[in-house]
Amino acid sequence: MIAKVITDISLDREFDYLVPPELEPILRIGSAVTVPFGRTTRTGYVLSLAETSSYDPGKLRGLSGIANDRPAIPENLIKLGKWIAEYYCATQEHAIRTLLPAAVRSGRVREKKCRLYSVSDLAAAEKYMIEHARETRLAKRIAVLQMVIRKGEGPKAEFATESGFSASAFDALCKEGLISMREEAVSDDFDDAVETLPDSPLTPSADQRKALDQISEMLASRTPSHVQLLFGTTNSGKTEVYLQAISKVLEMGKSAIVLVPEISLTPQTVRRFRARFGKRLSVLHSRLSDRERFDEWNKINSGKVQIAIGARSALFAPFDNLGLIVVDEEHDSSYKQSESPRYHARDVAVVRGKLENACVILGSATPAAESLYNAQQGKFMLCRMAAQVDNKPAPVIRIVDRRLDPAPEPGVSNLLSPILIHAVEERLERGEQAILFLNRRGYARTLCCPQCGYEARCPECSINYNYTYSRSREVLSCHLCGGVVPAPQVCPECGWHEIHYFGSGTEKLESCARAVFSGARIGRMDSDLMRSADDYEVVLDKFRRGRLDILVGTQMIAKGLHFPGVTLVGVVNADLGLSMPDFRAQERTFQMLTQVAGRAGRGERRGEVIFQTTRDSDVLRFAANLDFEGFSKFDLEFRELLNYPPFTRLIAIFFKGEKEADVAEYAAYFAGKLAAYQHDKLRITPPAPAPVEKIRNQFRYMMVVRGTGLKTIREAIRVLALHHTPPAGVTVAVDVDAQHLM
Ligand code: ADP
Ligand code: ZN
Repeated sequence: MIAKVITDISLDREFDYLVPPELEPILRIGSAVTVPFGRTTRTGYVLSLAETSSYDPGKLRGLSGIANDRPAIPENLIKLGKWIAEYYCATQEHAIRTLLPAAVRSGRVREKKCRLYSVSDLAAAEKYMIEHARETRLAKRIAVLQMVIRKGEGPKAEFATESGFSASAFDALCKEGLISMREEAVSDDFDDAVETLPDSPLTPSADQRKALDQISEMLASRTPSHVQLLFGTTNSGKTEVYLQAISKVLEMGKSAIVLVPEISLTPQTVRRFRARFGKRLSVLHSRLSDRERFDEWNKINSGKVQIAIGARSALFAPFDNLGLIVVDEEHDSSYKQSESPRYHARDVAVVRGKLENACVILGSATPAAESLYNAQQGKFMLCRMAAQVDNKPAPVIRIVDRRLDPAPEPGVSNLLSPILIHAVEERLERGEQAILFLNRRGYARTLCCPQCGYEARCPECSINYNYTYSRSREVLSCHLCGGVVPAPQVCPECGWHEIHYFGSGTEKLESCARAVFSGARIGRMDSDLMRSADDYEVVLDKFRRGRLDILVGTQMIAKGLHFPGVTLVGVVNADLGLSMPDFRAQERTFQMLTQVAGRAGRGERRGEVIFQTTRDSDVLRFAANLDFEGFSKFDLEFRELLNYPPFTRLIAIFFKGEKEADVAEYAAYFAGKLAAYQHDKLRITPPAPAPVEKIRNQFRYMMVVRGTGLKTIREAIRVLALHHTPPAGVTVAVDVDAQHLM
């Protein structure tokens, strides 16, 4: 037998090894093995088994052995890994690597074992006690044996606490075989700190009933597709549908995976799942230590838990009887991984579901154009949940055109329109809460010298205005490379003492709000301030308890949080995202606006939302009417006209390097090779500098291939990118179904 093995070096190549006869019965696809490699030994995984090899059998080497310190990868995940490598043009090694958490793959963390003792055979033990009842020499042994029978199985330490215990008698009984030992893997029982009270399913609403019926049909394989697009506004009860669908899957003896965007994996969310499923649930969040991650993986792998909830990578939870994958907020862009393999967790979830005969629920209030299109084409089943569970009226949304406002007095910030100021003041008077939202952190976007025209830019990166000024820290920071420099007090070029700041961010918004609403209790939340998840919880908690009146923030506050006291949301710069050079700019803006608007009026009072803008835009109007259907029709027409996804597939190829000429030359060579695959359903945009043309001193070129029937060209791209060596200093990255064309 031949094993095709992938090692830990990224060559995108399998190596053939002979399987020694003694390993044949235990070796399987996914086994971790050690193999001779050159003069060393390496660890790898068996990708497939075959009878023959195309290499000279005389030259083949044998496997050294099974790597006992590492768990095997379940065979179905190996299949998924192969698909990822092919489709996303990644090396097989990269793909296999994403299947296992580093803590498991490295073999660094070992499983903790505990030894449990019990009486081997009750009848034999009783016979022993009767036979030796009169021998004082054995009295201690008999006492210990009685103790073990009485207490039942347990670790030695537990018996040792009993009076009359004798270690030597205990050991002697073990030796005689009257007490036997077995080892069991233990995990530190890490729990989500708070004890969660169990709850029970709610009686489904009509909409929820409809969704659950469709899911039951799906689980019984009586539907044309295994994917349901659950399209329901915030608060329509989607989470309750997930919970009941999972219960159903558990009843069938199967397991479930729930994916949520990392930012939504809050204690609030986890509590709802924990309350329903208790210890049958494993929570995979990014703050787990290696040890904890290792333990959770083993709990899943050994079938001790039946549900895993987590961000993107939870998709690879090693269940072997998967029944359901839920992808909540399926439109969220954090499901796309930015490093190789650049997979999209929603799309891979659909593939894993297909491979393992499991159903998939994609839930969203604003489905991605791709998903909606798939539903329209009959590839997914659509279930619309229109009504909010509590029949709360939607918030009142107004668009305020800043161009109609009177010019501000000199020296007064122009961030808040009189209408928004008035609305906030009303809330303060009534003791209600407001959120002010601006999707840009920092104090100002850039600084500029009015005397000589100097503009501060990150010297390593390219685009204009890319420094963000933070007044509290007195620094300029680059959001592309993360570089930080002290903010100059005078112009570095000409020494002029009055430098100006242009644009605005949340930090400036906060100080502006403090000036306008004196006496109000104001908090701010953005990635500048929130260094850890704890910072985040502290501010949220204050706000939730009503110890803040106004919360200022970036998109961090847009997602899924529930604050009953909030009756007003102001979006300072609602059109901000529309000028991005990206065909998804409209979609992202619409999603963001409706999501933020959803933060208003979750409590008793009806919510109000104000979008400030300085331009006319259909996108804003659709968002203000919460008209998803209208928007989506408009957006799909635009994409169809321009041949963008979902009407086509798209692959972006990036070329990077310090010498621009080398990058450009290699990009042109690469494009030339691809020309052979051109056909009339395909558009190849020749390489050109990317919109962000330089990051960290690396010049960036981009080319885009889009169309239908991409399979052949994708294979060609994969081979060119992975198996042809570019000139020194140039790197190539392929992004299939790229979410950002920057
Ligand atoms: P979504 O996930 O769509 O935002 P949720 O499932 O979180 O909606 O439901 C919103 C609120 O309504 C929650 O507080 C939830 O407990 C409640 N809810 C959901 N379904 C029901 C139901 N069938 N009966 C009563 N309350 C419900
Ligand atoms: Zn930079």
